Amino acid sequence: MIPVTKPFLPPREEYNKYLNDIWDRQWLTNHGPLVNELESSLKRYLHASNLLFLSNGTIAIQIAIKALDLSGEVITTPFSYVATTSTIVWENCKPVFVDIDPLTFNIDPDKIEAAITEKTTAILATHVFGNACNIDQIQAIAKKHQLKVIYDAAHCFGSLYNGSSVFEYGDISTCSFHATKIFHTVEGGAVFTTQPELIDRMALLRNFGHTSPVTFDGIGINAKNSEFHAAMGLCCLEHMNEIFKTRKAQWHRYQAALQESNKVQLLTITKGCDFNCAYFPVVFESEAVLLKVMAALNLQYIQPRRYFFPSLNTINYVDNNSCPNSESIAQRVLCLPLYHTLRKEDQDLILKVVLKNI
Ligand SMILES: *Cc1c(COP(=O)(O)O)cnc(C)c1O
Repeated sequence: MIPVTKPFLPPREEYNKYLNDIWDRQWLTNHGPLVNELESSLKRYLHASNLLFLSNGTIAIQIAIKALDLSGEVITTPFSYVATTSTIVWENCKPVFVDIDPLTFNIDPDKIEAAITEKTTAILATHVFGNACNIDQIQAIAKKHQLKVIYDAAHCFGSLYNGSSVFEYGDISTCSFHATKIFHTVEGGAVFTTQPELIDRMALLRNFGHTSPVTFDGIGINAKNSEFHAAMGLCCLEHMNEIFKTRKAQWHRYQAALQESNKVQLLTITKGCDFNCAYFPVVFESEAVLLKVMAALNLQYIQPRRYFFPSLNTINYVDNNSCPNSESIAQRVLCLPLYHTLRKEDQDLILKVVLKNI
C-alpha cells in the first residue's frame, strides 16, 4: 500500500537514548527538560523569535484566538483543514469566508476588504500546503483596519517568506506537529509570535493560568505536551535536513512529469515564498476525472487524499457565504503520495496511472 503520507520514524536506538533519560529522571510532563530542549532547538533551527510547544495544532489556534481576545467576526479561508474553521466557532466567533486565489489556493487578499464589517476583529488565514499567503498585502490590510492576524501555518515547517520563517509573521502563527506533517512529535503543535507579551500570555493559557502552584492569573486550559513527544521531536529534528532534501527531489520529479500537461493544474508558489515542498496537490479538469484517477490509483493500492474537501464554507455549522473558487478547487484537487521513503518506482507508477487517466 502506498498511502498519501507516512510518518518519519527515527532509528529506534536514537529514541531509546531519550527513554533511558526519562526513566532516570521520572519527569514525564509539565515543562520537563526535553520540552525545554525541543523549544530551544526549534527556535534555533527555524530562526524563530519565540515559540511554545503545545499538545496539538488545533489547540494552538484556540490559544491564539484566546490570547488575542477575539470576538465577533473573523475573516478566514474556506480552503484548509477543518480545524481552521472549527476553532473559530469553538471560541465563539463567527467565521466569514473570503474566497481563494485560484492559483495559490490561499485567501485572496483583494477580496478581504469587502468582507470587513464593524464586527470584524481578525483575519485567520492558512498558508495552505506550505505555500505562504501574500503576507505583505494581508498585513497592510490588517494595519489599515486595525485587525489582528493569525496564520494557520500547520503545513509550513521550513517555509520562508521574504527570507524569514513564515512563523515570524502575523500577531501569532500556529503549526501542527501531527504525525502526518513534515516535522512531527507524534501529536503536537506550536504557537509562534515576535511579541514577548503574547508569549507570556499564551504560556499562562497553556498551563491552566497557573502563576505558581497556588495562584492563577485568568482562565487557562491544559495544552502542555510531554517528554515522550518532545523526545520524538528532538529525534526527528536531527533528520530534517535529509528529509527536506528527499522531499524536494520527489516534489520536483512530480512537477517535471506533470507540468507540461494541459489537463491538470499545479500549485503556483507565492512570490517571496521559499516553499518546503510539503504537499503535491493536483487539480483535475472535473470531479469526474478526479474520481476516475482516484479509482485507478486505488486499484494499484495507492491512496491519494482529497486535501482539502469539502470547501469549509459548506460545512453544517457555519453560514455559507459563496466561495466559487474554493468550492471548485476543493472538488477537483487531490494530493499525491509524498513521504520520506516513497520509492522512485512507486512515484513512476503513480505518474503513469495519473497521466493515463486524465
Ligand atoms: C493538521 C492541521 C491542523 C490541526 O493540527 P493538529 O495537530 O492535527 O491538531 C490545523 N490546520 C491545518 C491546516 C492542518 O493541516
